[in-house]
Amino acid sequence: MNNIYIIGVGLIGGSLALDIKSKRPDITVYGIDSSEQHLNEALELNVIDAKATLDDLDKADLVILSIPVDAAVELVPKVLDKVSDFGLVVDVGSTKLDICKVVETHSKRRNFLAMHPIAGTEFSGPKAAILDLFQHKTNIICEVEKTAFKLQEKALNLFSEIGMRMRYMNPEAHDKHIAYVSHLSHISAFMLGKTVIEKEKNERDIFDMAGSGFESTVRLAKSSPAMWTPIFKQNRENVIESLEGYIANLTQFKNMMKNDDFEGVFNEMKDTNYIKQILNGLK
Ligand code: NAP
Repeated sequence: MNNIYIIGVGLIGGSLALDIKSKRPDITVYGIDSSEQHLNEALELNVIDAKATLDDLDKADLVILSIPVDAAVELVPKVLDKVSDFGLVVDVGSTKLDICKVVETHSKRRNFLAMHPIAGTEFSGPKAAILDLFQHKTNIICEVEKTAFKLQEKALNLFSEIGMRMRYMNPEAHDKHIAYVSHLSHISAFMLGKTVIEKEKNERDIFDMAGSGFESTVRLAKSSPAMWTPIFKQNRENVIESLEGYIANLTQFKNMMKNDDFEGVFNEMKDTNYIKQILNGLK
């Protein structure tokens, strides 16, 4: 592999570029982005080696799309039209069903790989790119059998080299599960942040009293609405289902409080402490 083109040189695209450049110094990493400022920043920060445009993609061994999921659904078919028979196009978006559907009948379907690296932070843009972000992180791969074997092999070797562990899943299952473990957590943080802001109009008071518990719970509320709105739109049904479960639990907890059922409150928390074992098992 010699030439890699990253479309969207932000947090994920930029972090992939840094890791690839560090592990494979012989590869040239080109950046393409709708934001000229981000492209310039990525170049200054050495996240990419050079700027490029969509017209250069016929020279690509690998194209990684790391842009909001609505933009990816529009762009992936056009990018597939441009790559050579030996080029692979990878999408890293946080939803997988719509993207897999849009390429289903494309004549170059075998040049496409759908994946979702489960890694990130609440920050965006090339300045947020981090070396080693993907070390020991899970990378969900969807419909691997639909990608040409030689192309998937080369790409998966590269992703393993930068520390990712591959898991294989169909796009429906991916979107259903990710609604609970990622999308719901973001909505919960946004609405927790909103609830506190509404009550505590004077921001100083919030910061004077807020401890690390508040900060770590509300951290995801700093995330980019431009990235998250299209994710919630594409995964609407699963996200609504997860919210219904969450709201039912919140209502039940509130009712136990109203009914002075503190044994119930204790037991709810004790049962949920089981999360410690689950999370330890993930390490
Ligand atoms: P990001 O930091 O905001 O970077 C996205 C970059 O793409 C920005 O520079 C953006 O420019 C640019 N862009 C937007 N639309 C474009 C288009 N049509 N063509 C070319 N460039 C375009 O976002 P990110 O957090 O890296 O997320 C990128 C993708 O990774 C998303 O699909 C997301 O779902 C997925 N993902 C995110 C995480 C996470 O934790 N953040 C984790 C795993 C996967 P502007 O800012 O000017 O729009």
